[in-house]
Amino acid sequence: MDHFLYHNGILHAEDVAIPEIAAMVGTPFYVYSCATLTRHYHLFEEALAGLDHLVCFAMKSNSNQAVIAHLAGLGAGMDVVSGGEYLRARAAGVPGERIVFSGVGKTRDEMHMALTGGIRQFNVESEPELIALSEVATALGVTAPITVRVNPDVDAKTHEKIATGKSENKFGIPIAKAPAVYALAASLSGIAVVGIDVHIGSQLTDLEPFRQAYQKVRELTLRLRAEGHDIRRLDLGGGLGIPYERNNSAPPLPTEYGALIREVFHDLEVEVEIEPGRLISGNAGLLVTSVIYVKEGEGRDFLILDAAMNDLVRPAMYGAWHDIVPVKEPAPGDEQRPFDVVGPVCETGDTFAKQRQMTPVAAGDLVAFRSAGAYGAVMASEYNTRPLIPEVMVKGDQFAVIRARPTFDEIINRDTVPSWG
Ligand SMILES: *Cc1c(COP(=O)(O)O)cnc(C)c1O
Repeated sequence: MDHFLYHNGILHAEDVAIPEIAAMVGTPFYVYSCATLTRHYHLFEEALAGLDHLVCFAMKSNSNQAVIAHLAGLGAGMDVVSGGEYLRARAAGVPGERIVFSGVGKTRDEMHMALTGGIRQFNVESEPELIALSEVATALGVTAPITVRVNPDVDAKTHEKIATGKSENKFGIPIAKAPAVYALAASLSGIAVVGIDVHIGSQLTDLEPFRQAYQKVRELTLRLRAEGHDIRRLDLGGGLGIPYERNNSAPPLPTEYGALIREVFHDLEVEVEIEPGRLISGNAGLLVTSVIYVKEGEGRDFLILDAAMNDLVRPAMYGAWHDIVPVKEPAPGDEQRPFDVVGPVCETGDTFAKQRQMTPVAAGDLVAFRSAGAYGAVMASEYNTRPLIPEVMVKGDQFAVIRARPTFDEIINRDTVPSWG
């Protein structure tokens, strides 16, 4: 559920009419709903109630300072995957002890940054990384709390580009090798083992892969404890999917996911961390765009929008579906016909949807992409020298620009032409 509904025939973000925002900031833009972010964060809090737990928002899904600050204000921790994200979390006021550091290629500079700035744990993904971290921590005279990310070799049954838990993926340490890596960790200076980490992929629409992975983590917990390791914390990753196609999908609910976690781990006396990104931010955002032209082609009609693949790359990159709705509510009996919905970028891949059934819209009309709050703005680029689009946040009947559109001068002046001597 989200807070983007029609009132009096016009799509609103909470209590703000979308055309009102469009008139002020111009199109295209992203708009996020505070109430939806809050609601989704609370769904996880409720799902894990009674367990010792921390919900760490996966910042890579949406790292705007206002979004992070809002979630941090509710009590969320953060899952970061780069030094830049670490600094964003700290700038938004998140204390180090609520930040977990994930990622397959952490550099020594990033380790140094997190160790001096404060960190809850590093989720270590390889032996060379473990050794590097030991060296950096030892040189600083501190101890780095770690989990080892294990790869449980389960099929997440999701898009191949966002599956991470099969042995052929680059992520984590094969679970069979984990005992040896924990033994290495225990022998290194500057390293303190605190738990185990697993993350098998994104946009999972079935609980079964989670069950298989978590069962393996449970067995590993018992084994590592028997071998003398202090496994007091389990980071269970993110990845719960959302209904991108509203009328045609029903992924598991956070309550069902929470029930599974309870079932597998309730008797282990562990602290549970989860790292949801998409389920918190995805349906909390729209991409709002204007129709530039309706072009009648041979046998198909094109809706040419002012948003493009550089603003929202998921359809081009993953063949992803987004519901696309007119901002002016269609009347109940309005006919629908198929359109190819495209952007202005000079690539055939700049196609959001092919032969999508829509009620006809005209040049100048506003349309909105639903479920655009995750992996939208964060993956945007300035390809074709199209400025990064503004982000707007709504709270009740108020709205604020939380990232302004850069000017063309700002973009052009980032380049320098060398004056060769
Ligand atoms: C991407 C990622 C997440 C978040 O995945 P969602 O599908 O957005 O919930 C969590 N943890 C790690 C390590 C990730 O790489």
